[in-house]
Amino acid sequence: MSRHYDYLAIGAGSGGIASANRAAIRGAKAAVIEAKFVGGTCVNVGCVPKKVMWYGAHIAEAVKYSPSYGFNLEQKGFDWATMVKNREAYIERIHGGYHRGFQSNGVEFIEGFAKFVDHQTVEVNGEKITADHITIATGGRPMIPEIPGAEHGIDSDGFFALTEQPKKAAVVGAGYIAVEIAGVFHALGTDTHLLVRRDRPLRTFDKDITDGLLERMKQDGPELHTETTVREVVKQDDGTLTLHFENGKTMEGVDCLVWAIGRVPSTDNINLQATGVEVDKEGFIQVDKFQNTNVQGIYAVGDNTGAAALTPVAIKAGRQLAERLFNNMPNAHMDYENIPTVVFSHPTIGTVGLSEEDAKLKFGEENITVYKSSFAAMYNAVTPHRALSYFKLVCHGKEEKVVGIHGIGEGMDEILQGFATALKMGATKADLDSTVALHPTSAEEFVTMR
Ligand code: FAD
Ligand code: NDP
Repeated sequence: MSRHYDYLAIGAGSGGIASANRAAIRGAKAAVIEAKFVGGTCVNVGCVPKKVMWYGAHIAEAVKYSPSYGFNLEQKGFDWATMVKNREAYIERIHGGYHRGFQSNGVEFIEGFAKFVDHQTVEVNGEKITADHITIATGGRPMIPEIPGAEHGIDSDGFFALTEQPKKAAVVGAGYIAVEIAGVFHALGTDTHLLVRRDRPLRTFDKDITDGLLERMKQDGPELHTETTVREVVKQDDGTLTLHFENGKTMEGVDCLVWAIGRVPSTDNINLQATGVEVDKEGFIQVDKFQNTNVQGIYAVGDNTGAAALTPVAIKAGRQLAERLFNNMPNAHMDYENIPTVVFSHPTIGTVGLSEEDAKLKFGEENITVYKSSFAAMYNAVTPHRALSYFKLVCHGKEEKVVGIHGIGEGMDEILQGFATALKMGATKADLDSTVALHPTSAEEFVTMR
């Protein structure tokens, strides 16, 4: 006898958990299978440990600026291991919360690695499990380059496994993860080098915003090396690494090399061939807006679909799917337009909608009006560190509908959410102007731009 469910999610990450819980709440007999840790990437090796460490970095920065506020502190040290221990204890508590949630919703949690047997059956720990509806929510994993010595580096999972603070770190990559990890290392006191192969990190972001990031990196670090591609990594007798670049230069004495060059979908090891589910050439599962694959009864949500690789996206897609399948909502689906996103850089970047460059391409330059504000946030204006924040609105047409909101500056991570709602509701520049400012804040710049 094999177990049978109405709904089965493979992977207890953001998407799998959210969909299984919602399916069970709507009355389905639901289960979720997890090979590693409940909570998936976000909770164990992603958003959560990253944000804890970003807070640690934030405290280090506050200590640095504290003399301007009259403090006379003596910093006796910083213990990386304590931060990691407390971070992991917090994650342990989150695990407990998930298991209590499964229990109260009636979701069965199955530990093990699932592989397809056919389109309605998976095998876990030698047992065959069948379901009417199966969602593949297996997420992704970090990519490592194929160059000599690459194995001497670690990936973002390895970064979170560090129990000691490195002295000199090289972070390779130009996306969210590279920028965030380099920022944390640097603020906590590691000599940090961010190596990007082109002219800047975060190339797909609005240029004014990445210009702001480059300015901050120049003022404060980490040290940015542009047009720098690692050709070979050599481990020396003293254990440090020497990096050889394609431009002929080298970097010596690196005791921590982090590859952050992107992620690949975890779809190559689950025997998808047994189902006929289609993937693209990079392995991303092809789904329609309802998360349907080409095989009836099999769905996919989250990072393995190639959609914006963000936790709230996987969660929303999973919940909407469960509503559609088990709550008589045939049109329920995730809206992939205008997804807000934040980079936990130093300072943070927040963005929703079109960059100025993309808006001009889409609507024509003559139909776009751009409003900008650059200012020293009060937090650092009283310190010798008078770095600027850059905020920006991209508006379309005569009515000046807001189609892009972008900012880099202190607090931008917390500011964006409400403005993203305004953009999604179709707010115009006049709507923002008609809102009374909150003073004194950085956020008020968005309702007072000229
Ligand atoms: P995952 O969360 O990756 O879950 C997939 C799960 O499936 C894993 O637990 C895996 O073990 C399991 N699994 C895989 N194959 C099998 C199998 N065959 N059988 C059983 N189980 C299996 N997003 C944000 O929104 N904000 C952030 O600040 C943020 N920071 C990040 C920082 C880092 C360093 C990283 C790597 C990612 C970050 N993300 C962030 C992205 C976010 O973590 C992902 O978008 C999100 O976790 C995707 O959810 P998912 O359900 O698709 O997959
Ligand atoms: P990304 O895909 O965002 O960025 C990786 C970048 O690295 C590429 O865009 C590319 O930039 C560069 N790159 C690719 N290959 C190489 C190479 N061989 N050598 C050097 N550089 C290379 O991947 P990440 O791993 O940073 O993050 C994955 C996803 O996780 C993100 O896209 C995001 O959706 C999510 N995430 C979200 C976070 C958040 O919400 N705050 C935080 C962390 C991750 P270029 O072409 O410019 O060189």
